Amino acid sequence: MPTYEYECLDCKKNFSVILSISEHEKTKVSCPKCKGKKVKQSISTFTTKTSRKS
Ligand SMILES: [Zn+2]
Repeated sequence: MPTYEYECLDCKKNFSVILSISEHEKTKVSCPKCKGKKVKQSISTFTTKTSRKS
């Protein structure tokens, strides 16, 4: 399941939400801290913690 990164525009909290694609399309994400709806999705990094072979 992809992890979506969000940033709250009100309290500047960064948080991530794990949603399926269909959930992501219909779910209104709100900030877990201030419950604000003004959240901005940042680049979804998925699991880019794997080291890249070059
Ligand atoms: Zn917030």
